[in-house]
Amino acid sequence: MKRITNIAILGSTGSIGRSSLDVIEALPDRFRITYLTAHRNIDLLSEQTRRFQPHGVVVRDEAHAQRLRSQVNSSTEVLSGEDALLDIVSRPDVDLVISALVGFAGLRPTLRAIEAGKDIALANKETLVVGGALIMEKVRAHGVHLLPIDSEHSAILQCLQGEDIRSVGRLILTASGGPFLNLSHEEICRVTPGQALKHPTWSMGSKITIDSATLMNKGLEVIEAHWLFGLPSDRIEVIVHPQSIIHSMVEFVDGSVKAQLGIPDMKLPIQYALTYPERPPSMFKRVDFSEIARLTFQKPDMERFPCLSLAYRVLQEGGTAPAVLNAANEAAVQLFLEERIPFTGIPEMIADALDAIPAESELTLDAILRADRDARTFVAHHTVLHTH
Ligand code: NAD
Ligand code: MG
Repeated sequence: MKRITNIAILGSTGSIGRSSLDVIEALPDRFRITYLTAHRNIDLLSEQTRRFQPHGVVVRDEAHAQRLRSQVNSSTEVLSGEDALLDIVSRPDVDLVISALVGFAGLRPTLRAIEAGKDIALANKETLVVGGALIMEKVRAHGVHLLPIDSEHSAILQCLQGEDIRSVGRLILTASGGPFLNLSHEEICRVTPGQALKHPTWSMGSKITIDSATLMNKGLEVIEAHWLFGLPSDRIEVIVHPQSIIHSMVEFVDGSVKAQLGIPDMKLPIQYALTYPERPPSMFKRVDFSEIARLTFQKPDMERFPCLSLAYRVLQEGGTAPAVLNAANEAAVQLFLEERIPFTGIPEMIADALDAIPAESELTLDAILRADRDARTFVAHHTVLHTH
């Protein structure tokens, strides 16, 4: 009989975390949850703890830990803080870590898990954006598997099965185009957080939903694809495909193109990452082609959506430039959500941060942390100057 895989989920209360729990619950003879972590959503975490009976859970701080302890069985250890995240991912009762925190917070726990020899199912794309070279080097050194949960990268991995990577011509990432695909520049200047949070095809956490509206999400995915599949940026292309049925494509040197299709639901890429290279049967909704009727494509407009070209720019620059882009983006998205800058202020803020903060060429953890801090400080000061 196959050994059961022990799983820790970083960010179990998030959109990816919740879908992951549904996938795992449907495959009880393969997986067992040993750790769950969340930031602040104690009510949901306590419900998940009762449902999955993990060995331990981690929350943001001691105050949240106290609240959780009063709601759950004492056989579950309740810990708090970032050090506890670093601790649990290296424990012997963890075989695989689902990295599903949002943003830069995912970097250190993911890195620690790799160093402890754990396999990784990666939703937290920001980890590869800021630390790609370092992460891939550690993945090789520790002989772990790192499998993408992002739907585009899962699609590419599926298209590459049975193929030689040297026969790949280019990767074609599909993008929904977000809610503002057909708005003019003037209209885009006036959009509100409420409008930006309504994604046409996917239901996700707020940060990635804003990233999808600016097309920064696709820019981050270009960088992610570069590190996962080892192709240079001029062989990674983006095409807007508003129906989100084709999740991405691979064009081979002979001109043949393979695509992976499915309904927009993250459960499929999550299950593929957890069971790779097997495909257990699932109850996920099927594609109904007569209902879809049409699949359409258009080129992305980098003038109305400058975030995408900024991502290509930092991938060329290398070193800590992607970490500056990522931190400036996280800070600017937060400011937009708080209605302190307009939507178009997001790419402006990022471009200014990239111009002001020189990239370091050697990518150490310290250099990444410095770049992240400097970019956040820059955006904070810049905003004060703009609003006074
Ligand atoms: P989310 O906001 O729904 O969930 C984030 C989770 O991380 C929550 O459990 C939250 O408690 C926890 N968290 C947030 N900040 C934290 C911090 N500072 N320290 C510790 N924990 C913290 O986000 P999501 O949509 O599930 O996205 C998670 C990651 O997956 C992101 O990197 C996103 O880009 C990626 N991703 C998401 C989707 C999707 O469909 N949602 C698709 C592809 C990739
Ligand atoms: Mg994606």
